[in-house]
Amino acid sequence: MTAKKTSLPRKLPKDVWYKDGIQFECQGSGQCCVSHGEYGFVYVTASDRKRMAALRGISTREFTRDFCLKEEGLYRLRDGEPISVHGATPKKTDQTTQPSLAKPCVFLENKRCSVYAARPAQCRTWPFWPETMTAKAWKKDVAKFCPGVGKGRVWPREEIEAMVKEQTDWEHDLTHGR
Ligand code: SF4
Repeated sequence: MTAKKTSLPRKLPKDVWYKDGIQFECQGSGQCCVSHGEYGFVYVTASDRKRMAALRGISTREFTRDFCLKEEGLYRLRDGEPISVHGATPKKTDQTTQPSLAKPCVFLENKRCSVYAARPAQCRTWPFWPETMTAKAWKKDVAKFCPGVGKGRVWPREEIEAMVKEQTDWEHDLTHGR
């Protein structure tokens, strides 16, 4: 799950489209760990980096040096090796069937997050972000793309909005250098 870097907190309307909850359960597809559209990067706060470094058994400084890039004042995770977005190996000799490539998160291994227990807040709160919770954005950016939509338990509105708030607070920390 990758984030639009400058999204800022928005107030949610009283009568929301998801007032009866949303059925969602992660299917482990790894799709949200591959760059897509405008949600291009995985940003990390200081506490994200500290937590992930501890899981890897290295210092936060080492983690930041080895796994992060700083762009326009914000830290983000590095990209891994480009992969086929269709899961197939690109054929160099056949341009017509060659799938396009995408850059996954550096911690995506065999479609699984290798730092799952310490994953960044933006990964934990996906897909309930301020910018995805309009009916239009949900349909375009989440439902069409994420196989977890329509599966598993129904998340009640209160839980969804708690996740949106967590993501909003995290974005505030990120943009204030925390
Ligand atoms: S940190 Fe883990 S959950 Fe987040 S994008 Fe990378 S592989 Fe996916």
